[in-house]
Amino acid sequence: MAPVRVRFAPSPTGSLHIGGARTAVFNWLYARHTGGDFLVRIEDTDLERSQGDLANAILDDLQWLGMESDGSVVYQSDRLREYHELAHALVERGAAYRDYTSPEQLEAMRDQARRRGEVSFGFRVDRDKVCQKDRPEGEPYAVRFLAPDEDIVFLDGVHGEVRFRGAALDDFVLLRRDGSPTYHLSVVADDHAMGITDVIRGDDHISNTPKQLLIYRVMNWEPPRFAHVPLILGPDKKRLSKRHGATSVGEYRQKGYLPDALFNFIALLGWSPGKGDREILSRAELVQAFSIDGIKPSSAVFDETKLVWMNSEYLHTLPVSDLARMLVPYLDSSVEEGYVQKVAALLQSRLRMPQDIREMGAYFFHDPEEWDEKGRAKYWSDAEFPKRFSQYIEDLETRVDFGAAALENDLRVHCNRWGIEAAKIIHPLRLALTGRTVSAGLFEVMEILGRSVVLRRLKRALAQL
Ligand code: GLU
Repeated sequence: MAPVRVRFAPSPTGSLHIGGARTAVFNWLYARHTGGDFLVRIEDTDLERSQGDLANAILDDLQWLGMESDGSVVYQSDRLREYHELAHALVERGAAYRDYTSPEQLEAMRDQARRRGEVSFGFRVDRDKVCQKDRPEGEPYAVRFLAPDEDIVFLDGVHGEVRFRGAALDDFVLLRRDGSPTYHLSVVADDHAMGITDVIRGDDHISNTPKQLLIYRVMNWEPPRFAHVPLILGPDKKRLSKRHGATSVGEYRQKGYLPDALFNFIALLGWSPGKGDREILSRAELVQAFSIDGIKPSSAVFDETKLVWMNSEYLHTLPVSDLARMLVPYLDSSVEEGYVQKVAALLQSRLRMPQDIREMGAYFFHDPEEWDEKGRAKYWSDAEFPKRFSQYIEDLETRVDFGAAALENDLRVHCNRWGIEAAKIIHPLRLALTGRTVSAGLFEVMEILGRSVVLRRLKRALAQL
């Protein structure tokens, strides 16, 4: 069997959305799994709607997700000549014809069909009247494929045998009157020229496949294998769209998701490795497990809560220095990276998203401006408390070792002396230092804040008592 060559073929009419990214991920995984090639082709023949910077943004998002073309990126706008050649080869073989119907005539035919109550209008030339030679040179024409009468059947990697009624096809356009190629023409010309062995793409293209197969058949070219991947739905089971929130890779990138987490998440949208329930899979594991057989024939549901969970799992295993680097943009520019690293190490297991650092870690970067009301009533009302507090502050002024373990040990000694449980002083101290009733471990927080900040905050809190 020929080595696998797959392609991802986005039209640059918008940014890379989750559905497109999923198609890319499946193609990429399949290529890596089989040791084949993953190619990228930009389908930009629709020049009015396609934009160069959108193509670049798509390539950039793909790269961010860790997918790059194994050969140079193919741009359809560079290949117009090849499309014309294919269209004319089909005419030569009698499988396509020049259609001189003017747009006005076509509109009139559509109108008549509507009046006859036909739901859709399918253009089929009278088979006896396919004449092309008796037309004057220079008159504009479209090239149309002569639709067959017999059924077209193919084996889809996801859906099994798929049958289309050939008689229901219209004579579809290959070249428009302005000379621009249609999708069916260019896609076959390219897939053949690029040696594509497998086409993995969205279900929305399944009805295009018979038309493309017809072109392969006339040209005597071996068609690729096809696998059509079902739609992605939102949590309400309607087709995933803007209504459901962010739908583009760029938006998730901006929100601070990790590329590996998003990749893992997308890979499981409609595909499953089928081994147990483990969902956090490294790229190598995904590559190893991927198969077209594992693609589910029913639609996948996009669940952002799961993505958040997955992102947190990835954040928790990131090397601390990498994590710190991701957190820096969410903090004041004056904060030193070394300091952020210490905070990152302490909070890593609690962060779900990098921006959580702002709220969750606020007390590492700012003195509290106020102290939780309920906490004050609960922890600061003991009459003995101000005395203990000032003793403790005094002791801290001269402590040599400000490490968490020594601080903890020391506090326990104080507690024994005062005859109280450690919790009786830990909670009030936490409130004084962070303004909150919940924080990371008190002694670790103190070690990171350092003596002078700790003393400053404790003294301010004492003045409140
Ligand atoms: N350019 C098409 C799209 O973005 C893809 C066509 C194909 O994969 O055959 O939907």
